Amino acid sequence: MVRLIISADGADQFESWKKAFLEVSPDLDVCSWYEASVKPGEADYALVWTPEEDHFEQLSFVKGILCVGAGVDHLLRTPQFPRHVPLVRMGGAQTAELMADYITWAAIGLLRDARTWAVQQAGHIWSYNGVARTSGETRIGVMGLGHLGSHVAAHLGRIGFQVSGWRRSTGLLAGVDVFSGKAALPDFLKKSDILVNLLPSTAETRGLITYPFLSALPQGAGFINVGRGDHVVQADLVRALDEGMISGAVLDVVTPDPLPPTSSLWSHPRITVTPHVASVASRNMQARYVAETIAQMERGEQPPLLYDPEKGY
Ligand code: NDP
Repeated sequence: MVRLIISADGADQFESWKKAFLEVSPDLDVCSWYEASVKPGEADYALVWTPEEDHFEQLSFVKGILCVGAGVDHLLRTPQFPRHVPLVRMGGAQTAELMADYITWAAIGLLRDARTWAVQQAGHIWSYNGVARTSGETRIGVMGLGHLGSHVAAHLGRIGFQVSGWRRSTGLLAGVDVFSGKAALPDFLKKSDILVNLLPSTAETRGLITYPFLSALPQGAGFINVGRGDHVVQADLVRALDEGMISGAVLDVVTPDPLPPTSSLWSHPRITVTPHVASVASRNMQARYVAETIAQMERGEQPPLLYDPEKGY
C-alpha cells in the first residue's frame, strides 16, 4: 500500500484531508505528520504547504513531494528543501476554472469601476458617470500561459475579450496573440488595456512590475495580480494609480501575504484586495489530483506539473 504523509494546512486539518482521500482514493494509506506514532521516514509521498523546519530532513527520503499550491517558490527559497526529490505543483481542471472565474470577475469589475461602487455604497452615495467599455472593446493581456494562464486566456476569448499572452517559449495558443520572451514585452504591454499577472515567482520575474513597466501600458489600463506579490514593486503600483496612469488594480496576492490590517492598500480608492483566494480547489478535488499524481508516479510516468529546476517553475 502506498503511504502518503500529510503536513499541509497543519494538524487540525488532517481529518478533513483523511475524509477526502477516503472518498476519492480509499486505497491510499494516509497519515498525519503530527501523529506521534507515525514515522515520516516510512512514507512514500508527502503532501505539504509550508513544512515545519524539522520536517525537511525526513522529506528528503520520500519518492515525491506534492505541494497544495501551484506556486512552489516559498519551498525553494528554504535552503533545507531537498532539491533531489521530485516536486509536483497543485493542478487539476477545477483550479484553472476557478482562476478563470476570478479573473473574469476582476476584469469586468475593472471595466465597470466596481471599486467606486463599493466606496459609494459604503458612503450611501448614488452617483454614476455612465461610461463603460464592453469586453469586446477591451484588449486583455495575460502574462503566463501555463496550466492556469492558457485556460484563462481561452476563457476570456470565449467571453469576447481580445486576448494576448506573454510567455517564455514560443508555443502558440488558438485565439490568443502570443508574445514570447523579454524582447516582445513592450509590444505585448502596449496592447493590454487590462493586464493579468499569472507568472510564477522566479529569479527572472520577481520585481518585474515597476513604474516604467506599468508606464508601457495604455493610459488608464487596469491591472490584476494573481501571480505573486513579489512580482510587483508595490510603491510603484500605488504611484501609477495615484497619477491615474493605471485606473484600477485587483490584487489577490500582495506583499506581505497576509496583508496586515495597517496596510494602506486596504483603503486605496483604486485598489480591490482579496485574501489570496483566486483559485482554491475543494478538498475532494485536491485529493483526487494528488491521488492521480501519485498513481502516475507509481507507474513511472512524469506528472505534467512537475517542478523543473532548469526553468525555475
Ligand atoms: P505554469 O508553470 O504552468 O505556467 C507558468 C507560465 O509563466 C508559463 O506560461 C511560462 O512560460 C511563463 N513564464 C515563466 N517565466 C517566465 C518569464 N521569465 N518570462 C515570460 N514568461 C514566463 O504555472 P501555473 O499556471 O500553474 O501558475 C502560475 C502562478 O500562478 C503560480 O506560480 C502561482 O504563483 C500563481 N497562482 C496563484 C493562485 C492564487 O490563488 N492567487 C493560485 C494558483 C497559482 P512557458 O509557457 O514558455 O513555459
